Amino acid sequence: MTEKNDTPKIGEKRQDTSQPVILPGIHRYQFFTNLKDRGWTMNLDRVALFGIVAAMLSDVIKPLLRGNPATIYCYECRACYATQDRCPVGISLQAELVVAGRVSDYDRFIRNGGLKCIRCGNCQSYCVQYLPLPKMFAVMQQETREAMKNGVIPKETLKRALAQGLVGKEYIDDLVKAIA
Ligand code: SF4
Ligand code: SF4
Repeated sequence: MTEKNDTPKIGEKRQDTSQPVILPGIHRYQFFTNLKDRGWTMNLDRVALFGIVAAMLSDVIKPLLRGNPATIYCYECRACYATQDRCPVGISLQAELVVAGRVSDYDRFIRNGGLKCIRCGNCQSYCVQYLPLPKMFAVMQQETREAMKNGVIPKETLKRALAQGLVGKEYIDDLVKAIA
């Protein structure tokens, strides 16, 4: 039996089913060319994949744009918690500050004492990657200060932080203005 010869003539568009098979059941360019012919449910996995990739890219692009690229390298291993009472201001969850800095999560940063960090560097030696933690916290502190001035952070968050003694003296004035 001879196979049907559906090789397109010069200048003629090649049909999806005439494209070479790259995987069983999948022709070259199939995803882009015949999307219109397929039910949405058959493409949900691709939509999910694009969503995951977009979320991952935002995890990388955001710190780069905000000048805190080192946060990308944090493993979230929490080895830095071993700083314990060597942190002079009693911050115990340094990794939380790093992750908050990566995604610009002001509430998380403030809640974990980021605004009272004095950037002494004691925690840095406990980081398995020796990330520049004081520098990263300083960048996030400045970003948080700007966010306070711009009214981005809810007043309730700021009031709570003040009541719980989570604000260093260099940020008190800006915080008080923000909640006034
Ligand atoms: S740099 Fe900040 S978090 Fe680290 S030990 Fe010093 S005060 Fe604590
Ligand atoms: S030890 Fe370093 S890499 Fe691990 S969570 Fe802390 S900051 Fe991140």
